[in-house]
Amino acid sequence: MDTEYERNLHNAALTWLDDQTRIGGGFRLFSSAELREGFTFGGQRVPLLAPQPGIWKPRHLSAALSIRTTFTPPGSRPPYDDAVGEDGMPRYKYRGEDPGHSDNRALRSAMEDRLPLVWFWGVAPAVYEAIHPVWVIAEEPLRHQFAVAVDEAQRSVPLDGPVTDDDRRYVERLTKARVHQPVFRAQVIVAYDQRCAVCRLKYPSLLDAAHILRDGHPRGDPVVENGLALCKIHHAAFDQNLIGVRPDRLVVEVRPDIREDHDGPMLLHGLKEMHGVPLHLPAVRRAHPDPTRLEERWEEFRHAV
Ligand SMILES: [Zn+2]
Repeated sequence: MDTEYERNLHNAALTWLDDQTRIGGGFRLFSSAELREGFTFGGQRVPLLAPQPGIWKPRHLSAALSIRTTFTPPGSRPPYDDAVGEDGMPRYKYRGEDPGHSDNRALRSAMEDRLPLVWFWGVAPAVYEAIHPVWVIAEEPLRHQFAVAVDEAQRSVPLDGPVTDDDRRYVERLTKARVHQPVFRAQVIVAYDQRCAVCRLKYPSLLDAAHILRDGHPRGDPVVENGLALCKIHHAAFDQNLIGVRPDRLVVEVRPDIREDHDGPMLLHGLKEMHGVPLHLPAVRRAHPDPTRLEERWEEFRHAV
């Protein structure tokens, strides 16, 4: 197979995803149906996703084009844990245990040709966040897996020697920023039906996933039960404890000193009038905010002034 042709096709796939994301105002999720439909290259339709989970190689190519991690429903163990090596770099498991399986050979081929790939992460049933570009940079046959760099800077990290704490923290930070945070954000926004839980604003590009227990807290994991979909203003207000969520009634509480303040329409309508408003919740009960995490966060809010 002509490597140059494959490289151009991979780059065209990334450009197509970028264009779609730009049209979506920076927030764009993909359905499995449209990814299987794919994009057009050289007059030919190229699907971006396999009909079955795992590694995807279009029939006329020799290297894989995308890999997929399926959606983990709320309440189940997130796939992050075993998908990250001790060095902080993500790993992707073989298809089965045979290194000679055609899918594993296709991914090895992408590694050897240093081709950019797409990593699709399920954020709801049949809905994906596209992390791209990523590169397969090493193979670990004994563990039946490949190491995947999710950031340009991770491509030059040496994986075959001991890693220092500083190196590991750096690699972990990149993995978090490039994979865990966008996947968390997408999962939470989708769970909340693309609306702010406080004011119900429905512009996904203006929404964030706020952590109930902060990133770095022992239970501050990037999982839907620890998240709230909030617009940019309410995210900042929640982070700074200007607003809180009453865990017993699931209503918004605005801090007393803010309620007594006077300013323009943003303070009045955007913050003060949110006092007592019931939280907009996910349709799926298991995606609701975890009561014990809300309790703990409420204590922090009550003591903040
Ligand atoms: Zn809001």
